[in-house]
Amino acid sequence: MPATSERIASLDTYDIRFPTSRELDGSDAMNPDPDYSAAYVVLRTTEGGDEGHGFTFTIGRGNDVQVAAIGALRDHVVGRSVAALCADPGSLSRDLVGDSQLRWLGPEKGVMHMAVGAVVNAVWDLAAKRAGKPLWRFLADADPGWLVSQVDFRYLTDTLTPDEALELLRRGRQGAGDRAAALVHRGYPAYTTSPGWLGYSDEKLTRLARQAVDEGFTQIKLKVGADLDDDIRRCRAARAAVGPDIRMAVDANQRWGVEEAVAWTRALAEFDPYWIEEPTSPDDILGHAAIRRGVHPVRVATGEHVQNRIVFKQLLQAGAVDVLQLDSARVAGVNENLAVLLLAAKFGVPVCPHAGGVGLCELVQHLAMFDYVALTGTTENRVIEYVDHLHQHFLDPVVVTGGHYRAPASPGFSAAMKQTSIDTYTYPHGTFWAADAARAAAAAPAATAAGAPGQDTEVPA
Ligand SMILES: [Mg+2]
Repeated sequence: MPATSERIASLDTYDIRFPTSRELDGSDAMNPDPDYSAAYVVLRTTEGGDEGHGFTFTIGRGNDVQVAAIGALRDHVVGRSVAALCADPGSLSRDLVGDSQLRWLGPEKGVMHMAVGAVVNAVWDLAAKRAGKPLWRFLADADPGWLVSQVDFRYLTDTLTPDEALELLRRGRQGAGDRAAALVHRGYPAYTTSPGWLGYSDEKLTRLARQAVDEGFTQIKLKVGADLDDDIRRCRAARAAVGPDIRMAVDANQRWGVEEAVAWTRALAEFDPYWIEEPTSPDDILGHAAIRRGVHPVRVATGEHVQNRIVFKQLLQAGAVDVLQLDSARVAGVNENLAVLLLAAKFGVPVCPHAGGVGLCELVQHLAMFDYVALTGTTENRVIEYVDHLHQHFLDPVVVTGGHYRAPASPGFSAAMKQTSIDTYTYPHGTFWAADAARAAAAAPAATAAGAPGQDTEVPA
């Protein structure tokens, strides 16, 4: 047994950036040159055993701010009893969200909220490791009453009460053992976004779309929203490549206003898009409801930028979404995502989690698998996004075969990155970035010496 005197000894942050913009991987209508990044946190304990790893995803210079925000939470965590923390991550979650001086920056939204998510997720990683279970199983095996105690019901009880949540979770436990076995056997359905990045040529799009079908995916996704003629051409090419029976979602990454979203989506209707994702601002609840009415039967999906459980509540109350795309690292971690899963279950709206980025597939698979095993009990019309990027940097990377995520078996939240990757891609002093800066300095000595105005001389594009 671990010593009960064991404490959190340190909270260390790492600014990890990958130069993905150079291949246009991840490019969409709002993010033409993303350098996929993780604001990464490691909790170490006084006994030196298991560590808790967590992170949130940003793209490039956003990490300057995000890493600082995580560091601002350090004093809440260091010195806490590890046993107490793992027995009740919700207590830390409430303390972090409730820090009155930091709460002013939100409340419960944006950089500070994502920082809370990174830290809270690291605690869940540690708790699951100490229990010797992958997080999905740790959650699925947990007492329903305890799970309810992990949810902050403030601002929710007009729609979801603790008693209703308990009932949903008790019902979800019926048959959970059989579903856990089925999950380990079959995996969880995935769809792939890899063919559809906006910066890819038609040839690459067609090749990757065909490849996705060959690999067993039954749904792909295309980025849209920059140019309608291009979108029509690309959707036609993708539909021709995959045939009529494969679901093809499209994703506008918030590019449009409400009327434009309706008109543009209708213009793509002949290619039978399955859902239109992030058609407009993630804060525009009534706008999503109007778009949903305007584009029917195309479904409306959103969630990767929905900032907290309250906005999800309203999207559901307003009948604004057909598909709820929770994100593992946008809201305040596992505790708040339990609330989001419970809200979706109450409304009967399928959750198809957002993933991709850095490590988001690794994290979010656990939440979807818990939902299947011990909450909604179904994978019907449910798929986890899959993007084939950057998994090689993780110690326990996702495994997707035959269009399905395999259930993780290693204890924890699959969040830990390899030390060599951390050493290489930590910004700006990791070996990759240091060499890159040296190369740039050698290539353009005059501009670098002068500090060319408007240029970030440390990260040449
Ligand atoms: Mg998206």
